[in-house]
Amino acid sequence: MASVATPPAADLWTAIMSAVAPSVSETTFSSWIETLKPEKLEDRVLTLLAPSKFHREFVEEHFVTGLETLAQETTGEPVRVRVRVDGSGEIPRQRNLRFAPPVQPVETNGSNGHTVSVNEAAQESNLNPRYRFENFVEGDCNSFARAACLAISDLSRPTLWNPLLIYGGTGLGKTHLLQAIGNRVLSVRRNDGIRVRYVSSERFTQDFIQSVRLQQGADFAEKYRNVDLLLVDDIQFFATKERTQTEFFHAFNTLHQSGRRIVMTSDRPVHELAGFDERLISRFDSGLVTNVNPPTYETRLAILQDRAKFEKFPLPLDVADLLSTHITSNVRELEGAFAALVAHCQFGRVPPTLELAQRVIQEKTGKRTGRPPVELIQQTVADYFRISQDALRGKTRKQEIAYARMVAMYLMTELTEHSLKAIGGFFGGRDHSTVIHARDTISDLRKEDDVKTVAALNDLERRLSLGPMMRITM
Ligand code: ADP
Ligand code: MG
Repeated sequence: MASVATPPAADLWTAIMSAVAPSVSETTFSSWIETLKPEKLEDRVLTLLAPSKFHREFVEEHFVTGLETLAQETTGEPVRVRVRVDGSGEIPRQRNLRFAPPVQPVETNGSNGHTVSVNEAAQESNLNPRYRFENFVEGDCNSFARAACLAISDLSRPTLWNPLLIYGGTGLGKTHLLQAIGNRVLSVRRNDGIRVRYVSSERFTQDFIQSVRLQQGADFAEKYRNVDLLLVDDIQFFATKERTQTEFFHAFNTLHQSGRRIVMTSDRPVHELAGFDERLISRFDSGLVTNVNPPTYETRLAILQDRAKFEKFPLPLDVADLLSTHITSNVRELEGAFAALVAHCQFGRVPPTLELAQRVIQEKTGKRTGRPPVELIQQTVADYFRISQDALRGKTRKQEIAYARMVAMYLMTELTEHSLKAIGGFFGGRDHSTVIHARDTISDLRKEDDVKTVAALNDLERRLSLGPMMRITM
């Protein structure tokens, strides 16, 4: 049962939310704050309901103190904030709706005789308007899948790629792409009465079970067979659910035979979809199967920068570099790290420093950041040669500084995974050939046992391997 908030709790929470909103990013607000529900206010304790345990822990760790301060400012007396997990199992849908572009309600005549307003079409589609091609960062890991999705979303052209199945590990953008197709179709064909439906396979299963129980088979069939584009997420959940599969098979055939489009995602390749009816498998094979891979460093960095730009959050390059170097498993985790960084900054009123990023990485991955990042190398080299970091990164060609710069570039090629071009970028936008020259010069000097170079490198490498990052304990 969902709890009903008593008015004082709801009022106080509304006041707190409006105080929080201007001072946090949209991501933070919509992910962590807006999704909480006020339950009650009793004995100066405001109880909030969080949709999951993870959510509760995150809010407790990062926000509760800030929320208590705001609650006190609002009521004029100390208020404690308690968070508990909502037992109602009701998770807010489309939580970013607040930031969705407004949709014009236009009446249109549906391709199947229905009159539907554009708003209705969007509602009915079950799509989250946040997922768009425009905010999907392309990289080698996903460019083929993205192109296939773009192609199938152009309903005005015939496609050979129907059905389209995208598979890949968790958090790699499958749902994003799938929904981007739907959103693209709805926005381009908004006046054509095109019907789009996005559904997770779990939801499909539940709908089916319910239709059997309530004897509403016709409604169910209408819902899933009477669309122009059906998007089914995570079909691996259909494995072993025979009756649901049969139902899906029928919907699939109805749509496919009349040339309507079907896109599906799965967390594994087709041949690993155990428990699937052979007929379905062969249907999948008649279209296109493509995959998404884990993002490379470059793509991770681009995703972070894109997100920061969208959130208007000033994310320094070295911080973005550190996060993208260490948060490697998937995009969802990367986004989580970014959201945590933003939350720390906005609630703790501190700037996004490397130290903070290290702390976030440790929270997220449990690992102390091992590889010396750019900033640390520059700082250590500058300290060693007793020059300023600005001079190191600057234009001066004074011999000692130019030498220190070459050493720093050499160390970066050795100790980081940055491309030569990126390293040049960290030194005031120098060309990659300059970096090659620096690397080769210092490497030759080292091989020739040049005393000064060997001493500097030995000392610097020692300092970097137990540099300040390793001592941070937070
Ligand atoms: P999956 O369905 O594969 O588990 P999601 O589509 O839910 O993954 O992606 C996880 C999160 O990462 C989402 O918030 C999504 O917007 C984001 N994301 C994934 N890939 C990209 C990308 N290439 N560009 C921008 N955001 C991405
Ligand atoms: Mg998904």
